[in-house]
Parts: sequence; C-alpha cells; structure tokens
Amino acid sequence: MTDAPVDEVLTAAPPAFTEDEAAAIAERTFGVAGTAIALDSERDQAFLIDGERPTVLKISNASEDPARLDMEALAAQCVARLEPELPVALPWRVPRTNYVADDPAAYRAEIPTASGGGTHHVRIYDRLPGRASVLGSSLGDAAIRDWGSMAARVGRALRGFWHPSARRVLLWDPQHALRLRPMLGAVADPEVRALVAAALDRFESVVTPRWPGLRAQVVHTDLCASNVLVDDDGQVTGILDFGDASHSALVVDPVAVVETVVAGRSADDAFRAARLALDGYEQVTPLEPGERAIFGELLGARMCAAIVVPAARGALYDEPAALQAELRDEGVALLQLFASFGWDEVARRLGGREPGAGRTVSELATRRERAFGPALTGLTYREPLHLVRGEGVWLFDAEGRRYLDAYNNVPVVGHGHPRVTEAIVRQARRLNTNLRYLHETALEVAERLTATTGPDLDTVMFVNSGSEANDLAWRMARAVTGGDGALTTDFAYHGISDAIVDLSPEDWTGRGRPEHVRTWRPPDRLRGFDRSVESLDAAAWELRRAGHRVSASILDGVLTSDGIIDLDPAIAVDLVERARDDGALWIADEVQGGYGRTGDAMWSYRRLGIEPDIVTLGKPMGNGHPVAAVITRRDIAQSFAGTTDFFSTFGGNPVAMAAALAVLEVIDDERIIDGAREAGAYLVQRLRDLEARTPRVGEVRAIGLAVGVEVVRPGTTEPDASTTAEIVEAMRRDGVLIGTTGRHGNTLKVRPPLVFRRRDADLLVDTLDNVLAGLP
Ligand code: PMP
Repeated sequence: MTDAPVDEVLTAAPPAFTEDEAAAIAERTFGVAGTAIALDSERDQAFLIDGERPTVLKISNASEDPARLDMEALAAQCVARLEPELPVALPWRVPRTNYVADDPAAYRAEIPTASGGGTHHVRIYDRLPGRASVLGSSLGDAAIRDWGSMAARVGRALRGFWHPSARRVLLWDPQHALRLRPMLGAVADPEVRALVAAALDRFESVVTPRWPGLRAQVVHTDLCASNVLVDDDGQVTGILDFGDASHSALVVDPVAVVETVVAGRSADDAFRAARLALDGYEQVTPLEPGERAIFGELLGARMCAAIVVPAARGALYDEPAALQAELRDEGVALLQLFASFGWDEVARRLGGREPGAGRTVSELATRRERAFGPALTGLTYREPLHLVRGEGVWLFDAEGRRYLDAYNNVPVVGHGHPRVTEAIVRQARRLNTNLRYLHETALEVAERLTATTGPDLDTVMFVNSGSEANDLAWRMARAVTGGDGALTTDFAYHGISDAIVDLSPEDWTGRGRPEHVRTWRPPDRLRGFDRSVESLDAAAWELRRAGHRVSASILDGVLTSDGIIDLDPAIAVDLVERARDDGALWIADEVQGGYGRTGDAMWSYRRLGIEPDIVTLGKPMGNGHPVAAVITRRDIAQSFAGTTDFFSTFGGNPVAMAAALAVLEVIDDERIIDGAREAGAYLVQRLRDLEARTPRVGEVRAIGLAVGVEVVRPGTTEPDASTTAEIVEAMRRDGVLIGTTGRHGNTLKVRPPLVFRRRDADLLVDTLDNVLAGLP
C-alpha cells in the first residue's frame, strides 16, 4: 500500500471523438479501413472498426502516461508468450519503419487532442471472437471453472514480470480500499454508506495488517466481465485490456473472477459459483491459507469500489446513470448478503475458515459424542485437547498454546514435516490410482524397505493400517501352515479387525479369550518374573491340547501394550525357536517398534536378533498418512498366492507411496535413527536419576524412544493406576503430552516423534519431576 496519489486517469474526462473521426484515425495511423462503432469504455474511447479484418481501435485518455501503455502491451505480450493457448488480445505494431524490433512503443501512434493541447495514444487490436460483459449468472459450471483457471494462468505468466509503472494506485485494487473512505460522501443513500463504511472498517482490521504478507506481483486486477470475452458455452475466447495491471496481491485476480461469476445469483448459488471459480483457479495455482482467510473481505473491498467510484465519478462527470446503477446494485446486494451472514460465515462458505475455529471444546465434544456414538474410544484427558496444528515435536491447540508431544509415534519424522506434506500434495494433484497400474514410487518404497529387512524378507504387500497388515499376515500364516491357533502376549494389541481383536488381549474385555488363542507372559523384572519361554511353551501346549495347530506367534518388538518391555535378545531367540518348533510362523508387528524407534535399526526385531517370517508395518510409515505393509519371504507369498488373489484398493496408492517414500528419505537425511538413540539414552539417564530419588517410580524401561515409567505405591511393586492417571493429567496441564499403558494402566507411556531431542527430554523430565513433587 503506497502513499502515491490516485491515478489521474480515474478523475480525468475520457476523450470524445466521433465514430467518423475514429474511422479516419484508424485508416490514417494503421491503414485499417472500416466503419467505426463506439464501444463502452470507462476512461478511454474504444471503437469497433468493422472492415475486412475487424479490429478494435483504442484512443487513450490524454492524461494517460505512455509508460503505462507500454506496460500494458508488455504485460499482454508476456502472458501470450508464456501461455500461448490463452487468447490474449495483443496490440498491432504501428506500420512505421523507424521502430527497432523490441521498442516497447512500437504499437502506439500519437494524435493531437481535439483541443490541440496534448496527445492521445492510439492502438489497434484484432477483434477477438465472443461476447463481452456477460452476466455472471449466465455462466455454466464449466465456464466458471474455466474463468478461474484462466485467471490463474494469467497470474502465473506474470509472475516474473515487472515494469516501473506497475506501482500505481487504482481504486479497484483492494490494496487501496481505504482511500475510498474520503469519497464516501458521494454515496447518497445513508444505508448504503453505512454498509460500505462497515466493510471498510472490517477491511482495515483484518486485511490491512495481513496485506504485507500476501504473495505479490504484477497482476491484471480486472479479469471481470468487461475484459473477458466468452463464446456461447461461456468458454473464454478473449482476454482484453491489461491497462489496470498493477503490482498487488496475487489473490486480487481470483477475487475479480469471483466478483464476476456471482453477479445476478441467489445467495446459495453465489457461494457455489464462487467455490467453483476457486476450484478452477486452484487447479493451476493453489491459494495459500492466508489468502483464503481474507477472500471475503477482499471481495467486500471490490464491492465498496463498485459503489463508491461510480458515485464519485458520476458526481464529477455526469456519467450514464445506468452504468452507475448496475455496479452499485451488484455491490450493494453482495455487501448486504455478507452483512447478513457475518464475515466468519462468508469465510466458511468460501472455504477460508480453519476447521473448528471459533468452536469451544465442549461444543465439539458434544458433537463428537452425537456423531460418533459410544463405541469410539474416549477423548484423552479430562480437559480434552482441540489441536489445530503440529510442527516437529510440538502440537498447538485452538488457543495457540503449545504442547510437547511425547506421546504420538505416528509422526515419526515430526508433525507436519514439509518433505512429507509436500510429497502428498504434489502427488495428490497429479494422480492417485492403485496398484493395478504401474507406478514407480510404490516399487521404490518396496525396494527400499526390503533393503532393510534382510535378504529373505523380499516381498512387500501394501495395505492401509496396522490392523489390516496384521489381518493379512494372520491370513497368510493360516493359509501357509494350515493351522488356526495363535500365540500372543498377555496384554498385546494388534488391531481392530475381527480376526485381529482375537489376537489382542487388551481388547478382550467383554468377550473373553477366543478358543484358538493362548497368551504368554512377558518378563517382568520388577516383580521377578523371568519364565517367559516356559510361559510360551505352555501356551502352545494348551493350544495343541485344545485341538489347534499353532499357526502364528505375533509380537510387538517393544511390547507397547504390555507396558513397554525391553525384551532380552537371548530370550527372544529362544521364544522364536520354540514357536517355530510348534509349527508357527513368527509375525514381527513393527507398527510400534519399527521405523527407527529403538534407536539402533529400522526394525525392532533386528535388536532382538531374530528373523521373522512376516513383518507388519503401519503407523509411522506415512507420518500420519494412512499406509501400511506386510513384508514376507517369497515362499510364503507364493504359497499364499495359491489360495487367493490379493488386491487392496488404496494399498500402495501413489499418494500413500509418495508419503512413504518421503518418510524413508527423511529418516536417512536427518539421521533419525541416530537421533532417536542419543535422545533415548539421554532421556533414560535422566529418568533413572528421577527413579533413584522417587519411590513412586518402580521401574524405567526403555528401548530407544519407546519408554515406559512404571508407577507403584511407594516402597512396593503394587501398581498405582490412579496416580499414573493423575500424573498424565498434570503433565497435560503443564504442557507435556504422555499416556499410560500396561495391563494395570500404571506405566507412563513416553513415545514421542523421533525428532524429540535432549532439550525436549529435559522439558519432559523437569515437568515430570515437578508433577511428582506436587503429588499428595
Ligand atoms: N499393532 C500394534 C502393535 C499397534 O500398536 C497398533 C495400533 N496401536 C496396531 C497394530 C493397529 O494399527 P492401526 O490402528 O493402524 O490399525
């Protein structure tokens, strides 16, 4: 926004040549013969020269700075060059020989003013096909989108364009909206005046502070009905008049398009048309959230200009009342509509409001219960969180408060990692299909994964969730072994499908242990239990006795639901051998322990020194985008193939694969595994220190950044679930998010994104220390 004066052309009287004079000028300056017919023009004069080759003659306002005309011609040429398919109207070169080839003035001739006191610049254009000034409501949906895309392509073509004359003050350009204030007196109707004044106040409070942060460049500023020709289907056939080109916000062009397409429509249809126009625009150039957020206010500013400028000009020059009334009525109607909805609702309808903005936690919680019903797991924390943004290890709530996320393992490379989010967006824009078609990213993800799993685990099948991966693994195990019995840990969780809930004792409440499943007890150092191998043996024996052949043994390598247990590799190897002796395939569920969480390898089974038959992946694989996988040996896949034809619609889709590939790249580039090891070691050292001086802390168990802190009644090994829950609540109150786990709910679950570092560990432990000290 500049302090420069308003462009004089807006206040200077237009030229006044007759049609006969115009015909003579066309003939004399450009050698074009034909009958001249006057066309509408605001500050210049324009004539159709109806001859053998129909052209349009433009006679500029005498006060027009020729440098502006040069800019206009250069901008049009720039767009025509970069977007050759756009039907841009280009000025002819003046048929004179003394211009050098790239002289920007080569397209304008000079004629004296009628009074002889100055010059007019004269240009001639081919007349393009189509109609100008169509009413927005006459445009069909395809035409609306086409108009939006056209505007985006014009903006994109002008991205690198610059001309000194682009810095100017045109009142239609919303950046100068507040200059309308002193002109408000020209608006006769007090109600309309109040409407405009309110819209300008809103503009000042919402747009003015944000304006300097908007994407800016030279833009057309006026891609509305008078400057765009369309054919009978509403498709754009001509883009005219770069005469208002200005350095302004990029978003000004789609605002002008929306202003055009909503004209003459009912409220609902106007917003619908606006959204379609924005779809067209965003097909080429996505808007930024900040641009969408103020779109309504920018539209409001255009309406204010539509009301105030003609009123002020009318007062000065006695303009045709019809033109004034038309602009004014459209502007008033839209401002009235906006006032009746309120700006927030306008933003929502234009797609510019962040979801949940302005809603209270209790309002959303009530809606949640109503919409999702009672089966969905409860909200975490007595005071539920309404999170609106994440970045690295941080989560931000609707009030802008930030929380250290030491709970969520899904965003393994950090919330909102740009490599991942941009990969998703780019791929979603380009193509999203399925694995019935060739797509290289899926191959690359599979090849990268099998490069880390060991030579025999060479076959990848993509699905969409950890549950699905385990479901498929279990199905394969049964198909391959012919058995139907399963071994799982005491309090494991492996997923939601009917088959996998059977393998998830954590979720057996209310349904009991399934007949074909037996559990074994993981080691419990605190309570001196170290007979896990015997426990597994006994479970397998019981299964056989009940008539079930053992088909699979499934293990989360960091035993998250069992309380986060750092299984001794020697025991793990023994367990796998025993299970294999019983005919079982070993399924390594890496949904929790995989992707570097252990800090020493991509997969937790590596640390245990075992070779699983099937590996299942989930959660962190897409850093939050749903994607999961099963990795197995070729012989197992072969045997499974004999029983089925496997296809998952979304499994391995290009967008999911773009996310998965980005995650793998970031894990390498940011040395995520090393970071997890270092941060994990530091965190554990600090927690052990806390353990040593806090009788409530029974045991600290850690595998990299999978950390469990068991809370007991002081001086005993008795689990203290209620204190554990209180600690989690108090940590949330103090800005650190952790959870609980284990059969008795008395283990603090610390399982942050793997970009968690020493300073985060310090914050977590200091906060925990304070919370523990504050307990009664
Ligand atoms: N396996 C383990 C070890 C898990 O922790 C989970 C989810 N918590 C799953 C499988 C299921 O994954 P999803 O929720 O993606 O289906």
